[in-house]
Amino acid sequence: MRTPTQKGRFGEYGGRWVPESLVPACLEVADAFEKAWVDPGFREQLQTMLARHVGRPTPVTPAERLSAELGVRVVLKREDLTHTGSHKINNAIGQALLAKRMGKHRLIAETGAGMHGVATATAGALLDLPVTVFMGEQDVERQSHNVFRMRYLGAEVVPVRSGSRTLKDATSEAMRHWVSSTEEAHYCLGSVVGPHPYPWMVREFQRVIGDEAREQHGTVPDFVVACVGGGSNAAGTFAGFADTSARLVGVEAVGGSGATSGQAGVLHGSRSLFLQDEHGQILEAHSIAAGLDYPGVGPEHAHLRDLGRARYVAVNDEAAVAAAAQLARTEGIIPALESAHALAWVAEAAGTPELPAGSTVLLTLSGRGDKDIATLIARSEESRA
Ligand SMILES: *Cc1c(COP(=O)(O)O)cnc(C)c1O
Repeated sequence: MRTPTQKGRFGEYGGRWVPESLVPACLEVADAFEKAWVDPGFREQLQTMLARHVGRPTPVTPAERLSAELGVRVVLKREDLTHTGSHKINNAIGQALLAKRMGKHRLIAETGAGMHGVATATAGALLDLPVTVFMGEQDVERQSHNVFRMRYLGAEVVPVRSGSRTLKDATSEAMRHWVSSTEEAHYCLGSVVGPHPYPWMVREFQRVIGDEAREQHGTVPDFVVACVGGGSNAAGTFAGFADTSARLVGVEAVGGSGATSGQAGVLHGSRSLFLQDEHGQILEAHSIAAGLDYPGVGPEHAHLRDLGRARYVAVNDEAAVAAAAQLARTEGIIPALESAHALAWVAEAAGTPELPAGSTVLLTLSGRGDKDIATLIARSEESRA
């Protein structure tokens, strides 16, 4: 996948749609990242931290019993085995190191379910950078476990009371706060969304997933599959296979399907695909997987869709819950409900012309299901009642 233009365009998407007062800060981040990314010293520092503190490289695991059930050969890239339990830590550590290099003294982050907040709090603790996390009030209530984790790691969690009190509002508030503190703070954005350079920079920090998987898998798989919220684990995975014959598939939640059923618009500093009503108002997303509860998708995914290089599909809550149970039963792995969406598409499509029997599928397991246990308990009680 390519480097975007100077202005951060991926085809007709991307860009830097921010207030005048934020332009210098975005340029500063872009300049710092460009230089750091070609600096062998920075790359080595990052690689050392990913090895020591994250546990990279993560393994790839052939899912043999699942494959036998589905009739396709599934290999899992295990981001669920990273420290803190999801791929978010790859990007958080990368940006925290960059913030240090830029001479910033603290980090700002947004979070929905709390995984990016926990990852940023962890990176902040490691690198001695105080962290402020903006989180919708409704998510603060729903995700009390992760709120405790963030605070325990020393971060300040600020509940956001505007709008729907979820991720979309937390992101807006984090950007507003950044405007007033660009001198001393770095905004550590958690997915391949936002103004340039974030979609590109976050994809580069996550490409370690795809680069490792490519090498570990050896031969090129027929399909490469990942779930898509904003799209960072998918973008990082796809980056390792973009120049191969592998078919790339991004799996969204039906209630958060920006790439599958969104329209072009501008939100949080970039032009991309968002779920909108007939007046262009951005709609609320709804998914059982908090990490997929975002109405849009990163601009590079919008572009890959238009090019036909990647395909985007959506699955519903029930299919994801069933796929999580199937992986637990066959492989002894309880996946994050986000990752279960990718598994659900494979289960649905296996043996059809969309995913012919006998195909090899490399699937990124973006996180582990520990954070979803309360949701799964509630589901199983509902189904028993
Ligand atoms: C945040 C999250 C996602 C969705 O984010 P992307 O940017 O689309 O990768 C997926 N899985 C898990 C486990 C997450 O925490």
